[in-house]
Amino acid sequence: LNRRLAEFGTTIFAEMSQLALRTGSLNLGQGFPDTDGPEEVREAAVRALRDGRGNQYPPGPGVPELRGAVAAHQERRYGLSYDPDTEVLVTAGATEAIAAALLALLEPGDEVIAFEPYYDSYAACIAMAGGTRVPVTLRPHEGSFRLDLDELRAAVTDRTRLLLINTPHNPTGTVLTRAELAAIAELAVERDLLVVTDEVYEHLVFDDAEHLPLASFPGMRERTVTIGSAGKTFSFTGWKVGWVTAASGLVTAVRSAKQFLTYVSSGPFQYAVAEALALPDSYFAAFREDMLTKRDLLAAGLTEAGFEVFKPAGTYFITTDIRPLGESDGFAFCRALPERAGVVAIPNAVFYDHREAGAPFVRFAFCKQTAVLEEAVRRLKSLA
Ligand code: PMP
Ligand code: GLN
Repeated sequence: LNRRLAEFGTTIFAEMSQLALRTGSLNLGQGFPDTDGPEEVREAAVRALRDGRGNQYPPGPGVPELRGAVAAHQERRYGLSYDPDTEVLVTAGATEAIAAALLALLEPGDEVIAFEPYYDSYAACIAMAGGTRVPVTLRPHEGSFRLDLDELRAAVTDRTRLLLINTPHNPTGTVLTRAELAAIAELAVERDLLVVTDEVYEHLVFDDAEHLPLASFPGMRERTVTIGSAGKTFSFTGWKVGWVTAASGLVTAVRSAKQFLTYVSSGPFQYAVAEALALPDSYFAAFREDMLTKRDLLAAGLTEAGFEVFKPAGTYFITTDIRPLGESDGFAFCRALPERAGVVAIPNAVFYDHREAGAPFVRFAFCKQTAVLEEAVRRLKSLA
């Protein structure tokens, strides 16, 4: 393994899902739903396979049906208009979109500012692209993890090329507010930065939180690469269908990298996801309602079990502080948890450069069946 990748080892998600299998534990670690997405969307995939749509290499940018559906979705939900032919790119999940964007846009030595804790692939992809990551730490404040805008401003140097934003944010569940996004946008314009914004949890926002795409702020459309995912939005994480929307110059750049990573993305699923994106608003509302109920169930259970809970405004993750349980090392806690309680969770420390800042935080996923969440809570209560 080369020096760029050596520090990353095996992704925590694979490690923890393996641990769940080996110990027969309930897996609240890796973020994937244990119920598949809509039946009609599965049928659409079967139909595409049977009808021979997408069984051979589809077009590099993605099939026109899906590019059109992505553009229509951005227009319908956010009033953002993108040309499906030049401003939309289909990728092999959001993961490839992140990789291709960073590989396409960074010069060696460029600095990339990302919030810490960050989704693990960000750090690895910045490294593969030869960039330098500059973390800005989100800190607990009155029940949620908040961004310090002064710290963000201070992190920008003459070598900063790009801001890598994630809202709703994995693993903290923070949803950036209009004021925060406006300040980020102003900074990007003032310092002439590119922005890659990972909005894969755009449909999972709760209570009075609202998802606002960064590309909709003044001066942002031309400098922002926005990333979405069918895995998250339609509960088909195994299909690996994601997309990028951006101004044509940026999409062309990202496509230049994508063509040598995967060339094209898997065909039949693209047709199915095109149909999924056209589902009525009631689908998205029901999906959010379901996850909201599950969030509340798990948040209440974890609180009763003695954790300090940071109730997420978005995503399907809850970050907790384990110190009220008399614990302080999230790694040790998560490695022992299968034995102690038959539950798997993720230590947030893996998402930090400043590991000590993340040490006491542990993430639980609630995109699981109610009975699974209830059983997990029952088991976790035995820890106290
Ligand atoms: N970004 C974030 C913040 C995520 O949590 C995930 C995990 N699903 C991804 C990107 C990757 O998405 P995909 O499965 O579409 O590659
Ligand atoms: N995004 C999911 C999570 O945060 C997992 C995706 C993966 O395993 N790469 O748990």
